[in-house]
Parts: sequence; structure tokens; C-alpha cells
Amino acid sequence: MRRIKMDETLKLFSLNGRRALITGSGRGIGLALARGLAGAGAAVVINDRNEQKALAVAAQLREEGFIADIAVFDVTKRDEVAAAIDDAETRIGPIDILVNNAGIQRRAPLETFDGNDWNDLLQVNLDGPFHVSQAVARHMLPRGRGKIINICSVQGELARPGIAPYAATKGAIRMLTKSMCAEWAGRGIQTNALAPGYFATDLNQALVDDPAFSDWLCKRTPAGRWGRVEELTGAAVFLASPASDFVNGQTLFVDGGLTSVV
Ligand code: NAP
Repeated sequence: MRRIKMDETLKLFSLNGRRALITGSGRGIGLALARGLAGAGAAVVINDRNEQKALAVAAQLREEGFIADIAVFDVTKRDEVAAAIDDAETRIGPIDILVNNAGIQRRAPLETFDGNDWNDLLQVNLDGPFHVSQAVARHMLPRGRGKIINICSVQGELARPGIAPYAATKGAIRMLTKSMCAEWAGRGIQTNALAPGYFATDLNQALVDDPAFSDWLCKRTPAGRWGRVEELTGAAVFLASPASDFVNGQTLFVDGGLTSVV
């Protein structure tokens, strides 16, 4: 058996020479993932609906020593997405890694859940990854290479009162991930999902501000605490790098053990 050297193993996790587009990376988990992938060597493309915000975030990352460009689009707008991806591929260069991160949350009892909120959730959390993945895969497939990471959630596995439509979108993303695997794995694209547990971001501000919830969460989570967004970096780098070249259609939970216990 050939002896593998340590630097060869570390090289498996290197993103040097790769370009990663992260949707909704102006703040929160998306920004943390962009910074984490850039730290592993990737050139990153920051996506936001607001050009000024995207420019400011990219400038900040460049100041930190990373390579960062921007792509401005709303993930729900199919034509805008297709045009922006084509433009990014020409203007910046090939997208090797796509992270479908943009997402929203709305909370209300199911029996009174507003129909417009239901539509918004489906459009951002489910239609968005479809539009962006399709636009990016059309460039990846002829190259025979690519990595797609869909940001799922523990709610793709576990339900909670008040967030039924969100949970439905995250369950759907798990199956979309497997379907992308079914269609594209044989053509060089590895698609996997990364499912965070509870991380303190704007999306969860209502829960962060609720001491009773926080207390419940820390008791319910084997690790005994909220996650820190930087703690998603390792899993994201793994799924974006050659280290995961035979990993396909999986959902990797980064949740302090939440989905492993009752
Ligand atoms: P966040 O802080 O609220 O950030 C959401 C990001 O998505 C923002 O950058 C937002 O841009 C962007 N976005 C929303 N709608 C968009 C659209 N139509 N087009 C483009 N970008 C859009 O949320 P987060 O906590 O970082 O969540 C990021 C992802 O992680 C989501 O998919 C969420 O479901 C998932 N997640 C989060 C947690 C958690 O504990 N926080 C747990 C599990 C899963 P704007 O600034 O323009 O609004």
C-alpha cells in the first residue's frame, strides 16, 4: 500500500484555484461560509440583492487578504439569476463551488399562516436553490466538475410548532439534494447538504431574545449551547473540496448533536 504523506492529505482540503459563489452572503451564515471558504484558498463571489452591500462585503474580505468579487441577484428571480450567473462566468471566471445559502424564516401557527408568507418562503428557500443550481450547473456540467452545497437545517429532519412552511422547504431541499445527486453525480458534480442546528443570526433573533427558548435549546442540545457560525466552516470546506469527491447526496448535520438525541 502506498504511504500517503501528511501534506497530500491536507491538500485534499485545499480550495486553491477554485471559485465559490455563496448566495445571501452579505451577512449571517453566508458571510461566515464565504470567509471560511476563502480561508481555505477559494476566490469567493459574494451575492446580495443590494449592489452596495455586496461591494462593501467584498471590499472587507479583500482587506482581510482574500480574493472576492460580487454577483448581484435575487435568488427568486429566475431570469435575473440566469443572466447574473452567465455574467459572472464571463466577467469573473468559472464557478467551481456553489453554496445555496440564501434563506428566510417566518413564524406563525399553521392554521393562521399567511398565504403570502408561505409563497415567500417557498420562493426563497426552495425555488431559489433550483434557479441558481440550474443556472450554475449548466456551466459546470460541460466542464465535468463542480460542487454544490445546499444549506438545509435540522428542520429538514425535525418539526417544531410555528415554522411548518420553513420545515417543509428544508425537507424539500434534502430531497432536491438527492435528486441533484441522482442526475449530476455521474457527470462530475457532487451535491450535498449542510444542515446547521441553531446559530445566533438575524434569522433567529426572536429565539436569541427569548431566554426560555435559549434555556430549552441548551438543555436539548448535547453540546449544551448555540452554535457559532465559524463552526460551519470545517464541514463546508470538506464538502467543497476534493476530500469529498466520493460523497454525494448526503446531509451533514452540524448541530451539536441535536438530531442524534430525543
Ligand atoms: P440571515 O442572517 O437572515 O441571512 C439570510 C441571508 O439570505 C441574507 O444575506 C439575505 O439577504 C439573504 N437573502 C434572503 N432572501 C434573498 C433573496 N431573495 N435573494 C438573495 N439573497 C437573499 O440568515 P442565516 O441565519 O444566516 O441563514 C442562512 C441560511 O442558513 C438559510 O438558508 C437558513 O435557513 C439556514 N439556517 C440557519 C440556521 C440558523 O440557526 N441561523 C439554522 C439552520 C439553517 P438580505 O440581507 O438582503 O436580506
